[in-house]
Amino acid sequence: MKVEGDHFCSRCGVWIGNHNTGETPEGQKSFFSIIRRKYCEECRPAAISEQTRVRLHNLRHRNKPKLKQAADELTKAVEVIEAQREVIMMLKAELENRVKR
Ligand SMILES: [Zn+2]
Repeated sequence: MKVEGDHFCSRCGVWIGNHNTGETPEGQKSFFSIIRRKYCEECRPAAISEQTRVRLHNLRHRNKPKLKQAADELTKAVEVIEAQREVIMMLKAELENRVKR
């Protein structure tokens, strides 16, 4: 039976405390420590690693267009450098030709 002020684990549903009475499975705790609780002791590590995984997934998803743009710019920069290298080789060959004559 749910009593007013009761908190339950968001993951497994186990009772984790009552902010009105200050009762928790580990004994008396402060009102603030109880209202902050979302998970039981057993679920907290797993819940945190799930949240981290979701956050990382979202971050990678957000960064994907930026990464794609950076890769495209890099490809263009490499093409420009290749073209410039060819011009340098041509100028060098021409210069060597003139020195020989
Ligand atoms: Zn739990």
